[in-house]
Amino acid sequence: MRGIMQAQSLLLHRLIDHADRYHGETEIVSRRVEGDIHRTNWSGIAGRSRQVANALDRLGVAAGERVATLAWNGYRHLETYFGVSGSQRVLHTLNPRLVPAQLAWIINHAEDAVVCFDMTFLPLIQAVHAQCPSVTHWVAYCDADKLPADTAIPNLYAYEALLSTESSTYTWPEFDEDSASSLCYTSGTTGNPKGVMYSHRSTSLHAMASAFPDCLNLGAMDAVLPVVPMFHVNAWGIPYAAAAVGSKLVFPGPAMDGASIYNLIEGEGVTMAAGVPTVWQMLLAHMDKEGLRFNNLKRTVIGGSACPPAMYDRFVNDLGVQVLHAWGMTEMSPLGTVGVLKSQHGDADAQRTQLLKQGRAVFGVDMKIVDADGKELPWDGKAYGDLLVRGPWILSDYYNPEGDSPLVDGWFPTGDVATIDPQGFMQITDRSKDVIKSGGEWISSIDVENIAMAHPDVLMAACIGVYHPKWDERPIIAVVKKPDSSPTREAILACFEGKIAKWQVPDDVVFVDAIPLGATGKMQKMVLREQLKDYRLPDA
Ligand code: AMP
Repeated sequence: MRGIMQAQSLLLHRLIDHADRYHGETEIVSRRVEGDIHRTNWSGIAGRSRQVANALDRLGVAAGERVATLAWNGYRHLETYFGVSGSQRVLHTLNPRLVPAQLAWIINHAEDAVVCFDMTFLPLIQAVHAQCPSVTHWVAYCDADKLPADTAIPNLYAYEALLSTESSTYTWPEFDEDSASSLCYTSGTTGNPKGVMYSHRSTSLHAMASAFPDCLNLGAMDAVLPVVPMFHVNAWGIPYAAAAVGSKLVFPGPAMDGASIYNLIEGEGVTMAAGVPTVWQMLLAHMDKEGLRFNNLKRTVIGGSACPPAMYDRFVNDLGVQVLHAWGMTEMSPLGTVGVLKSQHGDADAQRTQLLKQGRAVFGVDMKIVDADGKELPWDGKAYGDLLVRGPWILSDYYNPEGDSPLVDGWFPTGDVATIDPQGFMQITDRSKDVIKSGGEWISSIDVENIAMAHPDVLMAACIGVYHPKWDERPIIAVVKKPDSSPTREAILACFEGKIAKWQVPDDVVFVDAIPLGATGKMQKMVLREQLKDYRLPDA
């Protein structure tokens, strides 16, 4: 027997229609590339996203064709999100931190028809346009009079000129909810980047689930600052979730420094901000220096890399801001788990330990850990193994893949190594490729880094394994000192005492000027290992 309910497909234009009708006056605030603060609201975004759809019709972009963006977080990018996907084209967010050759490779693999870009990235576009034969139109996010005349880029338009002649009336098409809505490439550590093709259904479900109270906890009373870029897994899906619940959105544009982010949080009454630890590090350093506090910020979502305990303490204990530690990945849209307590039992220390884990699965995601033979491991908080996931917003294969589907019996192997405790809280111990194996025992590089990062003179720390003739591998820690501080090797090593087993303590400290960061702000251990390839342990 079938249910007798209305069959309405989950399409992304329903989100922007909803925001328009029920939250139309809620503000969308953006710091622009031009340097000023721009204000509009959900109705303004909705109207202009319909103009985007009309403009794409006029340019002859067919349903299913890819429209790429190379842009910061801002209102024009948001309009493009909804205008492109809502009109059945596919939004492809490009990561501007990639080098031109990688960008051109990705544009060609995706066969993008249109590329919209912020003026910051004009030099990048100039470097790649001749290598991208599929692109028929280049659109600069600027006013007509700001479009440079001398670029040699063919079919170059100013976004504002393109929109100015279009109507804000548009009838969104109805189509299958499993149709592609957006595309995001993940740069693997080996091989070429891989495309993850989200659907209208997967993105709609993800938007609803991510607004849950024990997830990102979003509502119409919130002002949300996604510092996480819209070019990195769609800013963790926040633009969609915010439209679903009618939150105010505050976009930082290109200014990610501590002072700019702090001023936006305070000036716009931000209640929730989301970003990777490296961004929060800069914000906290600025606040420390100036002796500042928050007046409205209630929650911060920290993910993309493990939240260092010292950062958790600073937010929670010193600044009174709740930390939601979240884990996920491009292949998962990205949300998988969030650290929110299941009960208030246990003392403050026990609760802190629990909240510092990556958390429980969000409804929609299921997970398991397995050993090297694929046998499922117990949820005892001790056994660690490869983490696998499944669910309706997790990929089933890459876009135009080079090999077979990555799924194993319907589960996606995340490449992370984790434990799961009896309450269902997952904790990442490492990326499988970063695990350090010393004398047959695994050492969690994240544990080692967290301890070093709590040292007052350490700005950043990365733990890697190096060759050892007896133990195969031993950990060392690469440390970036804070400005005006000069910790010694011995002082750094002393901070591990009593915190981890002796054999897990790094054998050496290497002071470096910087830890290489990837395009999404994660430490690039592979690059670091390459940089330190001539390093020899004192006793090796
Ligand atoms: P990406 O696809 O670029 O978002 O990277 C996903 C990877 O980032 C995951 O597989 C994890 O290795 C890592 N990651 C994301 N969130 C966390 C977290 N909260 N703690 C530790 N690692 C994380």
